[in-house]
Amino acid sequence: MPDKTKPTEGQPLPFRAETQQLLNILIHSLYTEREIFLRELISNASDALARLDFIMLTNRDVHDPDLPPEIRIRIDKDAGVLIVEDTGDGMTRDELAKNLGTIAHSGAKAFVDATRGSQGNLTEIIGQFGEGFYAAFMVADSIQVTSRSYRQEAQPAVWEAAGEDTYTLAPGDREKRGTAVHITLKEDAREFLDEARLRQVIKRHADFIQYPIYINDEEMPINRQTALWRLSPREVEAEAYGEFYKQLTLDFNDPLTHAHMAVDAPVQMYALLYVPADPHNLVFSPRKEPGLKLYARKVLIQDFCTDLLPPYFGFVQGVVDSEDLPLNVSREMVQSSGVIAHLRRLVTGKVVETLSNLGKSDPEKYGQFWQTYGSLLKEGVAIEQDGPEKLFPLLRFHTDKDPTGWTSLEDYLDRAKPDQKEIYYFLGEDPSAVRYSPHMEAFRSAEIDVLVLTDPVDPFMLMQLKAFQDRPLVNVAVAAPPEVETKTAEDDATPTLAQADLADLIARFKTLLGERVSAVRAASRLSASPARLVDPEGAPEQSVQRVYQLIDKDFELPKKVLELNPKHPIIIRLAALRPADPKFDLAAEQLFENALLVEGLHPDPVSMVGRIQDLIARALGDVEES
Ligand code: ADP
Ligand code: MG
Repeated sequence: MPDKTKPTEGQPLPFRAETQQLLNILIHSLYTEREIFLRELISNASDALARLDFIMLTNRDVHDPDLPPEIRIRIDKDAGVLIVEDTGDGMTRDELAKNLGTIAHSGAKAFVDATRGSQGNLTEIIGQFGEGFYAAFMVADSIQVTSRSYRQEAQPAVWEAAGEDTYTLAPGDREKRGTAVHITLKEDAREFLDEARLRQVIKRHADFIQYPIYINDEEMPINRQTALWRLSPREVEAEAYGEFYKQLTLDFNDPLTHAHMAVDAPVQMYALLYVPADPHNLVFSPRKEPGLKLYARKVLIQDFCTDLLPPYFGFVQGVVDSEDLPLNVSREMVQSSGVIAHLRRLVTGKVVETLSNLGKSDPEKYGQFWQTYGSLLKEGVAIEQDGPEKLFPLLRFHTDKDPTGWTSLEDYLDRAKPDQKEIYYFLGEDPSAVRYSPHMEAFRSAEIDVLVLTDPVDPFMLMQLKAFQDRPLVNVAVAAPPEVETKTAEDDATPTLAQADLADLIARFKTLLGERVSAVRAASRLSASPARLVDPEGAPEQSVQRVYQLIDKDFELPKKVLELNPKHPIIIRLAALRPADPKFDLAAEQLFENALLVEGLHPDPVSMVGRIQDLIARALGDVEES
């Protein structure tokens, strides 16, 4: 009886369904950039070597402990076979079955999903994904993988597949630790037996792989193998930064900006950091998750370390390497060591500095950055407990005077009048609301610019952004610019309601609106609008109210105060109406609802249509005055 858990030697085993699907696509694809299969195999070899380095930090009891780390590509022209061999951690028979028999690797599942219904640009998808080990099926008639695990007790094994349906597993005779992938090339893929062609592909896709890549028995590696980040920034040519980024992320585009750090105190570290131009470019990248590659003395400790930057800088890609990280410990220990906290402070500071410099040296590029990542940074201000101020100079805003450009807080203050003591902002739900807001009138007539905050994250940001360079941020719905109050007081020419009439009018509004407002009073500083709504004294700030609204659907806004403008012709005429005139209630209701509307508070604007039509009819004069 064959053991069901241990398949009979050499018996064909089916690939998993998704794997078959993936292989079918790859085997039959007409993709022209097939050379990327080599990139994938070399990157697997490099991963295997990095894992072995990591294992050997704590465990020297491995098979072939003195074998040098290397990747060797062998050409057998006569047999039409290309071999990619490494001295990495190797695989046991079970690992071969698990890792190569299913569709386990990071990109493949997403690849299959993405190819559904997109036959047209399949080639593009293949190019962007890579798809790991299986990419070799684009060029192979058959593939044989022989491997010997680093585990002393493991036996060598062979995995083999010649199509999309099945593979076989059998004992092998490989003595050396590591893995060799033998590819019997398709007739039309023999170009990869040409040494010059191979060199070109390796230079293009694997130059920065940190382990040496050799061809046949040569002793000179083909790739430059530099840990670019360990060089002094002076030694690195500008293009090398971009090439390294592309090999790291498989992004086709240059990064928006980069930073290279070499620090000796308080901890020793190197870092190479990048801001991708567009995070969508990384959807198909092996580096989709946030996190930096963390090396300790050139050994890869963690592929996606999220402890080195705050979450709002999760878009930053790159590598951090420190001599001061303890080597003989687990990943968990590394994280809890104080070194990580130092590294985090340094790396975060560098990202802030780099962005801040970009903002000054290349505002246009920074605008592109802000467009892409701005909301994340505002969120950062909201959640950062360790000095949110450091992010303030990175913020950009649309303003009332420059509604399409991006203004920093520094620019705003530079453009402000010297005696302006506050930074004014308008908080609303959409940018067009600012145009008709009665709160803006006084600021416009005083020619004071106002930041326009309409992003849902803005109220959260305001909870920590209270002042910049000692000037408080003030909501235009709450404060008046000081110059304007004097100006309106001097403005005697405009007719205004007599005190007694005004008091009477206020009382009538109060009776009509009842519980719908907390009070009615005269406004001192409206010019074009007849009325506006403001918060009563002691109400939470508007930004806080919005936060409550966003996190609690049942939150009720505090009732507003209705301010009437005693100089406005509508208000003056309203006061003159006879007490019984039905137009009073119609007009007063409509004024109140208009005010709700401009504040973005009207629950049902369509309900106003009936009343507005009534008012139109009366204005046209076909209704008898009562
Ligand atoms: P990914 O590299 O994204 O995990 P791949 O399809 O490239 O996906 O590889 C699948 C898995 O097979 C790897 O995660 C690894 O466990 C294993 N593997 C592939 N090549 C090697 C190799 N040369 N040495 C050791 N393990 C390998
Ligand atoms: Mg891979």
